[in-house]
Amino acid sequence: MPRGIPFTGEYLSRYLSAQKRWSEARDWRAKETEAGRPSTHGDFFRAHGLCPACAAAGIRLNESGVGFRTVGWNGNLPLYEECEACGGTGKIITPS
Ligand SMILES: [Zn+2]
Repeated sequence: MPRGIPFTGEYLSRYLSAQKRWSEARDWRAKETEAGRPSTHGDFFRAHGLCPACAAAGIRLNESGVGFRTVGWNGNLPLYEECEACGGTGKIITPS
């Protein structure tokens, strides 16, 4: 079972810093498209060592790619599903 975590602290700050890179991602994708290379949003994350499964936030995205998946509640605080692909770090884990 994946861990349920509140969307606060490190998760929230990772999410916000990924949001700040949105325009960088858009420019990168435009350039890669022009060069005929893979240029999806996932490709951007991979190229920068960020986890594409959770958009670098460490919390798993919904199937639709919009919003994050909730797994339950802690009182009235929603708990989200920790991204299993990166262990909640938001970075690609490379096997060593
Ligand atoms: Zn992840």
